[in-house]
Amino acid sequence: MAVPEEELEKQKQACKIAREIREEIQQTVKEGMPLIDICEKVEGMTREKGGKPAFPCNVSVNEIAAHYTSPPDDKQVVPEKAIVKVDIGVHVDGYIADTATTVCLDPEYADMVSTAEEALAKAVEILRPGLSVARFGATIQKAIKVRGYKPISNLTGHLIRRYIIHAGKSLPNAFNLSTSRIKEGEVYGVEPFVTLSNGAGRVDNLPEAYIFRYQKHKSLQNPYAKKILKYIKTNFLTLPFAERWLNKFASHSSYKIAFHELMVSKSVMGYPVFVEASRKPVAQAEYTILITKDGCEVLT
Ligand code: MN
Ligand code: MN
Repeated sequence: MAVPEEELEKQKQACKIAREIREEIQQTVKEGMPLIDICEKVEGMTREKGGKPAFPCNVSVNEIAAHYTSPPDDKQVVPEKAIVKVDIGVHVDGYIADTATTVCLDPEYADMVSTAEEALAKAVEILRPGLSVARFGATIQKAIKVRGYKPISNLTGHLIRRYIIHAGKSLPNAFNLSTSRIKEGEVYGVEPFVTLSNGAGRVDNLPEAYIFRYQKHKSLQNPYAKKILKYIKTNFLTLPFAERWLNKFASHSSYKIAFHELMVSKSVMGYPVFVEASRKPVAQAEYTILITKDGCEVLT
């Protein structure tokens, strides 16, 4: 089914904002730059351009594949010769754009980064209604393998729906046994992740999380925890957020205990940071695409 015009307009607006930010940040990230400056610049531009962040800006360095965003007091800077994935989420009235680029400050990894970009180009070439998800994965894996690299098999693209970033349907970048097929009108975040051929080709969870999401309503002991949870529900709904976005609560003496209670009560869940299992560097490229009648359209 084709997407109604009014929805498509908001979807395209979010995607235009995300694309402009991606292009600008690609020129901005340099060695020595504080990671928190990258996050705040991306999120600030999102608001200036009339969108809202659909998730905190992810800045994932070297073997970190995804899900790092700066905590409030982050002192980390872009290391020398880093490869830096910047993953940007923008929404307009819940219509989400999800796009990422890899800034490569080490010429040694330039080919790996262009392999991720080429795999994404291949995905755009083949995506159409009726395509099987299994065939998609096998094709992307092959495109990466012939270049002498390996896909990250447990990170996938994903169906996007209003206010839902991962809407239940995955687009794996490697061999898989899915029986589902692509349908007209679906919007996907398409995102090959690539590592070195001697890497594990999968990610592990780190114990730490810097990106969070409202999960369920629980009765809470601490009145300050209740207040924060209400703010989270009202402002971020089903979308992920960063602790940086709770700044106005952070100076309160009960803040740390309250946030801890939100986590242990499972009112709020954390997304663990993903690291390449063998600690090899990872490149990523991502567009948001729309499945059209006979192919697909890159929206970002
Ligand atoms: Mn993304
Ligand atoms: Mn995505």
